[in-house]
Amino acid sequence: MDVDSLYQEIILDHYTNPHGRGLREPYEAEVHHVNPTCGDEITLRVHLDGDHVADVSYAAEGCSISQASASVLNDLVIGRSVPEAMGLLDDFTELMQGRGQVEPDEDRLEDGVAFAGVAKFPARVKCALLSWMAWKDATAQALSSEPSTADQGENR
Ligand code: ZN
Repeated sequence: MDVDSLYQEIILDHYTNPHGRGLREPYEAEVHHVNPTCGDEITLRVHLDGDHVADVSYAAEGCSISQASASVLNDLVIGRSVPEAMGLLDDFTELMQGRGQVEPDEDRLEDGVAFAGVAKFPARVKCALLSWMAWKDATAQALSSEPSTADQGENR
């Protein structure tokens, strides 16, 4: 099996069996992002525990690439610290914007390397980045909202 077929197989696998799909509670921020060039949509929620990514839940519609990417995102960022996960976002973005010239680091990106083939098709890059951009946006909102916990009274 050549590497392109292997990558396609990984993407198809995440598409048909998406990891962590569904919208869950609790969450600190929810966003809705659209990729108009392809028609992909995602609603994504972020739940942080301190500076750790406790959960990323989502409902996605659209092409196999956008949906598989959300599944891989879910695998990669949950359980990591926000700075670590942002580092992976940077790596993945670099890979996607590399027009097929960037060598993916499998130790870091795991199944995310499968999108290296997609990077050769500029029209599909936004599909692969949709969920990651949504996650970045939701995480920024969650961090800035400073979620108030129930037992932390409003004493002023
Ligand atoms: Zn798409």
